[in-house]
Amino acid sequence: MIIIGSGPAGYTAAIYAARAEMKPLLFEGQSLGGQPGGQLMLTTEVENFPGFPEGMMGPEMMQQFKKQAERFGTRIIPEDVTEVDFAVQPFKVKAGDKEFHAKSIIVCTGAQAMWLGIPGEGDYQGHGVSACATCDGFFFRDKEIVVIGGGDSAMEEANFLTKFAKKVTVMHRREGLRASKIMQERAMKNPKIEFLWNTEVREVLGDGQKMTGLKIYNNQTNDVSEFPAEGLFIAIGHKPNTNIFNGWLELDAKGYIVVKSDSTQTSVEGVFAGGDVIDHKYRQAITAAGTGCMAALDAERWLADQE
Ligand code: NAP
Repeated sequence: MIIIGSGPAGYTAAIYAARAEMKPLLFEGQSLGGQPGGQLMLTTEVENFPGFPEGMMGPEMMQQFKKQAERFGTRIIPEDVTEVDFAVQPFKVKAGDKEFHAKSIIVCTGAQAMWLGIPGEGDYQGHGVSACATCDGFFFRDKEIVVIGGGDSAMEEANFLTKFAKKVTVMHRREGLRASKIMQERAMKNPKIEFLWNTEVREVLGDGQKMTGLKIYNNQTNDVSEFPAEGLFIAIGHKPNTNIFNGWLELDAKGYIVVKSDSTQTSVEGVFAGGDVIDHKYRQAITAAGTGCMAALDAERWLADQE
């Protein structure tokens, strides 16, 4: 069995598969964020993963997942998978200059939040800048924060953040929202939310430790100004990491892998998928771990049936 991906889904699949004595091979993937471990490598404290009442730093948590997978015999390969071939059994997976074969594959390559790509954004990630309100909102009690985007995610995040923040300003690049009517209305009625239209963020400003504000640009008046804020939540969409599966697995319109309902079975028998690569809705470490576990159990049963 080969598992592709090293976030909560991949490592959980590996823990289950290894304990079932399937000797899984797990590809860590190096290219996203320059390191294996998935999106938790880009966050600071994780306080909502059950079992860690004091919380744990995201990167440390991924180290623990990895150790647990290795403890039961997972072999970890620190390489990006660059090509797959699911045409015939055994399936082929290429990484570096080597080709690997497996009867069953579990895809847990995750998704990545889209970022603005502006100066300061990377410097203050985890120190004011975030792409996940559920993960980081709690740290912004009584603070003034900004949400970027005009879709359902932005409205949902803005509403959620008002539980903690003193004030939330939604900045959108044009003067109309893409979000559904109900989500728009909810945000518009919320007294803690204000909207700034036709506004683009040009730079995240900070004092070297944490962010302190934004340089913003009004694309109607060409005004450039500074906007003080202690938090910036970017909600401009996510992108699943599925390029290498294009043409091999059925993907939906947004590129997420399609699985059968109540299962992790993809369009190719013997190939399973779990984690954010199949989930644009919940996107939590705990749900990714859950579907990673399901994928390992599905693969184990499928392999047993083959024999
Ligand atoms: P989305 O619908 O694609 O919206 C992305 C928003 O970000 C758009 O308003 C877009 O502006 C803006 N944007 C994109 N690139 C930008 C950039 N470089 N700079 C500034 N703004 C930028 O994404 P989403 O809100 O994440 O939603 C994804 C899907 O999940 C949707 O189908 C949504 O309905 C669904 N969803 C549903 C719920 C719910 O029902 N509870 C919650 C969350 C998400 P423009 O409008 O100008 O293009």
